[in-house]
Amino acid sequence: MRYYTLCLLVFISTYCLNMTFISIFYHRGIAHESVFLSARLRRFVIVAGSWITGIDLKSWVCMHRMHHAYSDTLKDPHSPKRWGIFGTLIGQLISYNKTLRELDLKNPDYTAMVHDLDFDVNILNRKNISMLPYAIQLAIAITCGWVFNYWLLGSAYFFGMMSHPIQGWLVNSFGHAVGYTNFDVSDDSRNNTLVAWLCFGEGYQNNHHRFPKSAKFSVRWFEFDMGYMVANILARFGMLKISKVRFTTSPTDGFGYWAESMLFEVGANVAPDLSPRNVSKMKFRSKIANDRTAPSKI
Ligand SMILES: [Zn+2]
Ligand SMILES: [Zn+2]
Repeated sequence: MRYYTLCLLVFISTYCLNMTFISIFYHRGIAHESVFLSARLRRFVIVAGSWITGIDLKSWVCMHRMHHAYSDTLKDPHSPKRWGIFGTLIGQLISYNKTLRELDLKNPDYTAMVHDLDFDVNILNRKNISMLPYAIQLAIAITCGWVFNYWLLGSAYFFGMMSHPIQGWLVNSFGHAVGYTNFDVSDDSRNNTLVAWLCFGEGYQNNHHRFPKSAKFSVRWFEFDMGYMVANILARFGMLKISKVRFTTSPTDGFGYWAESMLFEVGANVAPDLSPRNVSKMKFRSKIANDRTAPSKI
């Protein structure tokens, strides 16, 4: 019994580690900058991200920004409208590989999406050894089974660490096909409660597409964004800072929510916020900008 509990704990921990990397570091951190990673953590994510998740950071960000730019059109890399709900599992992989190829060929449609990133595609992809992280995780799992006869423990470890394709599929397919909406947006994004609970709040796609620069994906009282909760815990340890999340009431949205981030999105003219909280936020941002001196080769 204790063994099964251990297997479950290992699966949950590795799954959450993977989700933290993708949802908080890759997505909210690098793709949208709705949280600012500390310089040290940002460097770690750039170097270690693809070893831990098996996913290249720059290509992921490029594909994700294309998803926002062309959401649910034929140019969307992983819309269920284009691939079908189940086909999205393979479709997202095809589009990811295509993104890697086009970035390598310096296709301006792709490079323009990540022009602000000061790092290259990871060395694993540049050297065509992108399967190495998967092989290493598999070797750890097999060792666990073969040497110690803990096959279930090894499997729990492997599937937790390499769970991203399934998480991505749940979010990309169900988050754009099945669920309710809080806001009228120009795409088919939906809020899918089950997917949101399983995937650190990522299932609230309708909220996220309405307020892409908000670090918090939940807006209604019954919605729970675990990723935002984890981001707050990491912020307490000084690993990151929450950037944009302020929701205030507005008469224009059905549920009385409005995100400050939309003003950034539409370029509206707003007076600068010089409150002490915001000034310290700006200082943190400029410190991070200063730390990014030279493009990194990893
Ligand atoms: Zn989406
Ligand atoms: Zn996004």
